[in-house]
Amino acid sequence: MARKKVVMITGGAGFLGSHLCDWFMKKGLKVICVDNLITGSLENIRQHAKDKNFEFIKHDISKELRVEGPVDYVLHFASPASPVDYLNFPIPTLKVGSLGSHNMLGLAKLKKARYLVASTSEVYGDPEVHPQKETYWGHVNPIGPRGVYDEAKRFAEAITMAYHRYHKVDTKIVRIFNTYGPRMRIHDGRVVPNFIFQSLRNQPLTVYGRGEQTRSFCYYSDLIDGITRLLYSDIPGPVNIGNPVEFKIIDFAKLVIKLSGTRSKIVYRPLPVDDPKQRKPDITLARKVLKWSPDVKLRDGLEQTILWFKSHLPAER
Ligand code: UDP
Repeated sequence: MARKKVVMITGGAGFLGSHLCDWFMKKGLKVICVDNLITGSLENIRQHAKDKNFEFIKHDISKELRVEGPVDYVLHFASPASPVDYLNFPIPTLKVGSLGSHNMLGLAKLKKARYLVASTSEVYGDPEVHPQKETYWGHVNPIGPRGVYDEAKRFAEAITMAYHRYHKVDTKIVRIFNTYGPRMRIHDGRVVPNFIFQSLRNQPLTVYGRGEQTRSFCYYSDLIDGITRLLYSDIPGPVNIGNPVEFKIIDFAKLVIKLSGTRSKIVYRPLPVDDPKQRKPDITLARKVLKWSPDVKLRDGLEQTILWFKSHLPAER
């Protein structure tokens, strides 16, 4: 009998990583989930704890990792991903994007595995081109507070392409735009959990700046569909995966207020340093080469997410 394919997912106990674990377990692969749990949680992978096809390794992949046996796919998703988290963990963020990427590419090379790395719309920085296409090189402040994440991910892309060109590793790079859904940490500081938490507690929604900045929000299930299509494609370079429907943050706040039925009002807070003014993926490439586009409407995805947060709120003190 042919052996089961093995996928290693770094950051597998995080928001997207754990949804990927679910996807590959359902597909019948053996999953090796690696996480150091600085922002991930065992709660996200509890459903697989007793499954013999699932292995959890608590490890910081900025340090070398050796595993026995075959690995067919390496999906590198480990990194703090919320601006608040990467400001709290600036050096681990830089290390996991650089040393962690190096280690995982080395592992992929050794095992002759296909490698997919989670990159980000942050490689475009505060973009001067709108919407952002993969061919745009970006506008990043390397020494600002967000630079730790942006530059780590830019390095991750560069080393991925180097391993592809010089070591012939089979690589994929997904540039992930804002994504939301169940399993985001309620206090991770990102706009979706913040606004939902504040709404559910009838606290004011904290809009940064005047809320004129834009983001485009993709539901996690659409994103996982795009990522897995990319994994099985033959595109080595970056592909944007995200939802191109763009919202001003102020309008997004009003939508969350409406859908959650809260009594919350809106308050304005200072805009964080280097907060990108606009962000919207151009997904022409994904449509063409992956036959992918998002299906879930923001209203529907938000309703599901609000329900999930409602049942996972910490007890009120
Ligand atoms: N934001 C906001 N209020 C919050 C959290 C975030 O207005 O409580 C804004 C933030 O300034 C940014 C956008 O929402 O313009 C998205 O922020 P997030 O932290 O989710 O991620 P980013 O897209 O900046 O990486």
